[in-house]
Amino acid sequence: YHAKKAGVGVALYDDSYDIHSQKRLSLISGLPRAIKENELILHYQPKIRVSDRTVSSLEALIRWQHPEHGLLPPDQFIPIIELGDSIIELTNWVINRACLDCRKWQDQGISVDVAVNVSTLNIQDEQFIKRLDRILGEHHIHPGQLQLEITESVIMSDTKRAQKTIRALDSMGVGISIDDFGTGYSSLAYLKRIPVDELKIDKSFVMDMEQDDNDAVIVRSTIDLAHNLGLEVTAEGVETAGALDLLDVLGCNYAQGYYICRPVPADKIAPWIDTWSEENNDHVNIHTRAN
Ligand code: C2E
Ligand code: MG
Ligand code: MG
Ligand code: MG
Repeated sequence: YHAKKAGVGVALYDDSYDIHSQKRLSLISGLPRAIKENELILHYQPKIRVSDRTVSSLEALIRWQHPEHGLLPPDQFIPIIELGDSIIELTNWVINRACLDCRKWQDQGISVDVAVNVSTLNIQDEQFIKRLDRILGEHHIHPGQLQLEITESVIMSDTKRAQKTIRALDSMGVGISIDDFGTGYSSLAYLKRIPVDELKIDKSFVMDMEQDDNDAVIVRSTIDLAHNLGLEVTAEGVETAGALDLLDVLGCNYAQGYYICRPVPADKIAPWIDTWSEENNDHVNIHTRAN
């Protein structure tokens, strides 16, 4: 009653809140164990070049096989981990594993880039560049084969420090993508100051663009904006053949989505690429002949 009166909200006394906060604590404190016991898993979702349907990169998307809570999708633990320093350790683990997997693919003759999602604290971490450089070196991954996906909130959080890190990444040759583009609260001014390589149009616009004219306008305008700024553009959330065709017409560079491939465990990637390449051979040829 007092809490409510004070404007704190009754949720403080709700059982589910306590359970929730205990779960939060157990997730944060369980991370070192998760890393040690191999509970963290990377799934990969291919990104294709729209013009010829070839596979250009694989985005690492984390999951947590939790002993008590089952298989957790990132939305259920990343925001909690991001509240504290553990995100540094988690991202290190992700980058390291993604580079290791990328090396295995390259050794099998599959030449693809990898993309990793990074958080605000990573970009503000003074050690980030040094560690990244070391991981790339250990796995013999060329910096140009790594893309880091950041959201606009990362850039807004501390512009000076974010700028410094992103500039350093750019001069190393690491690719920078703006994830969930169009959903943040930021102005577009940062696009002039920060060496971004790519915009990723948020799936909320792409998923409905065949039905919703406003979404279609947003997708088309974002593609034009990116190209006019000399950037490449990816559409995420491609769920239908029609969406992929439309993106082709609009000149979108890359596409990603359930219609192409869902995020899958690393060992499913090589067989998927085989099948996909076979099925889309024609598309590659048509474009090669046209050029
Ligand atoms: P994101 O980076 O924007 O990734 C796209 C999300 O959309 C993924 O969800 C993916 O499975 C889903 N998706 C892909 N194609 C489609 C589609 O066609 N339709 C629909 N409806 N959804 C699609 P997921 O794997 O649950 O990841 C959610 C978010 O969690 C990611 O969004 C990213 O922000 C974050 N995340 C994932 N892995 C990591 C990580 O290693 N580190 C950090 N910091 N964040 C991560
Ligand atoms: Mg992403
Ligand atoms: Mg660059
Ligand atoms: Mg996204």
